[in-house]
Amino acid sequence: MPLIVQKYGGSSVADAEAIKRVAKRIVDTHNSGTQVVVVVSAMGDTTDELIDLAEQVSPNPPGRELDMLLTAGERISMAVLAMAISDLGVEARSYTGSQAGVITDSVHGRARIIDVTPGRIQTALNDGAIPIVAGFQGVAQDTKDITTLGRGGSDTTAVALAAALNADACEIYTDVDGIFSADPRRVPKAAHVPFITYEEMMELAAMGAKVLHLRCVEYARRFDLPIHVRSSFSNQEGTWVLSQTAIKERKVEQPIISGVAHDLSEAKITIVGVPDKPGNAATIFEAIASAHINIDMIVQNVTTAATASTDITFTCPKTDRELAVKTIESLKPLIAFERVEFDEEIAKVSLIGAGMRSHPGVSAAFFRALASANVNIEAISTSEIRISVVIRASDTDKAVQEVHTAFGLDADGEAVVYAGTGR
Ligand code: ASP
Ligand code: MG
Repeated sequence: MPLIVQKYGGSSVADAEAIKRVAKRIVDTHNSGTQVVVVVSAMGDTTDELIDLAEQVSPNPPGRELDMLLTAGERISMAVLAMAISDLGVEARSYTGSQAGVITDSVHGRARIIDVTPGRIQTALNDGAIPIVAGFQGVAQDTKDITTLGRGGSDTTAVALAAALNADACEIYTDVDGIFSADPRRVPKAAHVPFITYEEMMELAAMGAKVLHLRCVEYARRFDLPIHVRSSFSNQEGTWVLSQTAIKERKVEQPIISGVAHDLSEAKITIVGVPDKPGNAATIFEAIASAHINIDMIVQNVTTAATASTDITFTCPKTDRELAVKTIESLKPLIAFERVEFDEEIAKVSLIGAGMRSHPGVSAAFFRALASANVNIEAISTSEIRISVVIRASDTDKAVQEVHTAFGLDADGEAVVYAGTGR
């Protein structure tokens, strides 16, 4: 019997009506002779509301307690969804991440899955029941404390379970019909993308597209697990995320550029006047890594002969900005830099496409499009299949629109957004 894991995001289970609609979809799949394992996110904006609550109580809540609080969101959805399914005459059993065997490291707020032992899920399947698993959470192998996988982490729960259960595919249900060539909430002419490679999807996710969690795509690629991202509000085919080989087998034509992503969640940090000598960059970034801060772009300026010092700039999540500045300040006794500056009014705009590898001139056309929108570039970084720039946050919309049009990505009709606040 085929086995699929279906993951329903917050907007798909936002209220009682939505939960009943999703329950019907799950039962239909079950009745059609497919085994289903369900992973759910917290209802609507519950996670954000719980974070707001924590902030009202404490300016700096302990990670362990914040994780305990946030995982409650997914427990609510799994239990009510199981009730709705049982009303339709099929047995459903809900499980927390820990009960489902999702074992992680103990880094609160961004734990990594290190093993999945889905014994109880397999038993439920063997009994003909539908297992419903709370996404976004696990249990730490060493401390046995409850952990969360980072915002949007339910996708990763779903893919990790699908891999562990050897499922045929993982369906990720959201409020849009899959992946678009830009955020349809900002670019009305964003076009639907039917197929995309794991590599492109990883770049999109890393560069701010919120449709899929980055680690979920890494995981799927490792196990060559097909992901189907689709809407729970329609029956349209969504986007298949597959290996290059699997896409070729389906004989579809791959475009040069897949999409434009933007990210407003990063801050830019500049260390001014770093003495230019071997070891300083290593010391700085070792300290940043020990603080578990993920950095992205790094730019080092040309050293001025007069001072023999340079400026080093990098970007990191705004939520880590304070910690990053503190960490660098603490290096003052080791490195005689002048000062640390930060800027939160930045955006990162990225152009992504596997075809870039073999097509020259993509960067030039990207920069030309930004120039015609009168957008200034503050930093640039590239990979084999991506070009990213840092610009002013206030220029985001015009930059994304202009680049989208310049690369011929505009669709004829307008993209449909079914629900959700995009929060
Ligand atoms: N509820 C969590 C969040 O909002 C996890 C998820 O939705 O995947 O980030
Ligand atoms: Mg969510």
